[in-house]
Amino acid sequence: MASTHNELASILRRIDHRGYKAYQDIRGQYRFPGFDLYVDHVQADPFAPPSRFRVRIPQSVAGFPAWSLATPTRRVALSDFLTRRFSALAAALSRGRGQGQGQGQGQGQGRDRAQGWEQGRGQAAAAGTGKSGRISMARPGQEILARNSVLVDANGVEARFTVGLPAAGRTILGGVAEDLICGAVPKLVREALVFASLSATEAASLERHIRAAEDADALRAALPGLGIVAFVANGAILPRRSGVDERPLDRGNVVPFVSPPSLEVEVTLPNRGAVRGMGIPRGVTLIVGGGYHGKSTLLRAIERGVYNHIPGDGRELVVTSPFAVKIRAEDGRAVTEDDISFFITNLPFGADTRRFSTENASGSTSQAANIVEAIEAGAKVLLVDEDTSATNFMIRDRRMQALVAKDREPITPFIDRVRSLADDGISTVLVLGGSGDYLDVADTVIMMDEYRPVDVTARAREVAARFPTGRRFEGGNERLRVARRVPVSLGFARVGDRRSTKTKARGTDAIVLGHEEIDLRNVEQVADPGQTRFIADALRYLEARLLDGKATIPELIERLEREVEAHGMDVVAPYVHGDYCLARPIEIAAALNRLRTIEVRAAR
Ligand code: ADP
Ligand code: MG
Repeated sequence: MASTHNELASILRRIDHRGYKAYQDIRGQYRFPGFDLYVDHVQADPFAPPSRFRVRIPQSVAGFPAWSLATPTRRVALSDFLTRRFSALAAALSRGRGQGQGQGQGQGQGRDRAQGWEQGRGQAAAAGTGKSGRISMARPGQEILARNSVLVDANGVEARFTVGLPAAGRTILGGVAEDLICGAVPKLVREALVFASLSATEAASLERHIRAAEDADALRAALPGLGIVAFVANGAILPRRSGVDERPLDRGNVVPFVSPPSLEVEVTLPNRGAVRGMGIPRGVTLIVGGGYHGKSTLLRAIERGVYNHIPGDGRELVVTSPFAVKIRAEDGRAVTEDDISFFITNLPFGADTRRFSTENASGSTSQAANIVEAIEAGAKVLLVDEDTSATNFMIRDRRMQALVAKDREPITPFIDRVRSLADDGISTVLVLGGSGDYLDVADTVIMMDEYRPVDVTARAREVAARFPTGRRFEGGNERLRVARRVPVSLGFARVGDRRSTKTKARGTDAIVLGHEEIDLRNVEQVADPGQTRFIADALRYLEARLLDGKATIPELIERLEREVEAHGMDVVAPYVHGDYCLARPIEIAAALNRLRTIEVRAAR
């Protein structure tokens, strides 16, 4: 049975000045006015990862309007908005500023304690040991993603956050903890998670947030009907501040995107109404142009268009097929029994490229593996940038064909395969400045000229006719084959070794499964550290619960997807927390495929 907040307060008074271990006594569930507080996990010491808290507020108190809860897209956007709001207010509080005063403030003791927190004792704790006094929640970036930090539905709101329990050295600061948990937390909950606390401006920005996500989803759903794989709205701002800052570029001359008339399409969105922009048609599209004219920037925006963006990002209406995958060379990666024979055959010493494994792929073999694995995972659009491709994978020109006989060259270059892929329904968007040979195989050619796209398809045809490359087509009429691989074991969990089943994520760069590390730096569409957290636990769950020695990789990932759809991301969580963010099946497969310990057999 739940205790009351007064009982929690009296525990905190009782354990004041005792050793840190006594904090374990506060684990449990407490009834506060308007919400329930759950202390799910109490940290072992001040330097350990902070304690895990949860609150549940019924909609009778939270009061989010029915329209904001009516569809999955709206709930995701509302959850994202509340996560941003809660973490921003919590961060301000931890800086000892105690912002956001005003509306929706409670009465009585809670309020005095909150004031106590803001006026002094809070600072004492914030200056205390370890993460003393700090309340935090996941901090979203530019994308609106499904998260488990805030769960909302018609019944209520559940918010998950962490609290650094206050201490001086290893000594409990019970009074400070009381101000924090019984004062600052309730105030934060009311300000961040109760609709009535939003000012008119804030309510309007919540509505804008939800409407933006809804429009982006509608736009994405409209792509197939328009015969396009991506849409870039007129007026979109594509460049980012820097390679490590995804916010929109706001200094210097920023050139808003304007579609060439011939590629312009109009889409009517549920909230914005009619919008116009460039549609990238199915098939093979080249993005050409001089160096530094914005080619890679356009492609990166398209890569990220698989996600929805927050209002003000500049890419709210840059939307891409959910089956678009960035493909690049990734030498050094491991490959396990991929069929890469569509691109590579007859390696020296007769290595079988229909079941190709290596601990250390080359540029070209890694790029080939990345393509076949992406297609195995459901990719329908390949996004390729010459900047990050292996030249010998992309092209073999006339002179090389003359110098190195076809039977001495294991690689059938992408240029000779891209049409066959298109015939099988796999489109390609390719950034290219260096090789005009591709003009022969393109359906659409877009030239970036001082950040402005120009449709040069007709001119490209003329050029191709006037200057024949003389190269021989080396592709034959083969079709891509994808190996049907059945994982037998993921290989990281070892009997009698508990550490071997622990998971971790290092930002968006890597996930750690026991003693194994999977490098994801080159899986470029991972956008949020919450996604790597989720993927790590999803792989462990897949190993422990779904693997049966019969299902192929895509079948396993589909099973996982169905479980997540039915039970939420929490289904893979070893304990309750709010650090997950949804990742696409394509990225989960990408991680699985990079696991060095995976064992597979061929499906029958
Ligand atoms: P390319 O791939 O053609 O060599 P990039 O896409 O890397 O060129 O862009 C070169 C530089 O121009 C980058 O610093 C980028 O941020 C900036 N940039 C790209 N698009 C725009 C734009 N629309 N307005 C202003 N600057 C831009
Ligand atoms: Mg570039």
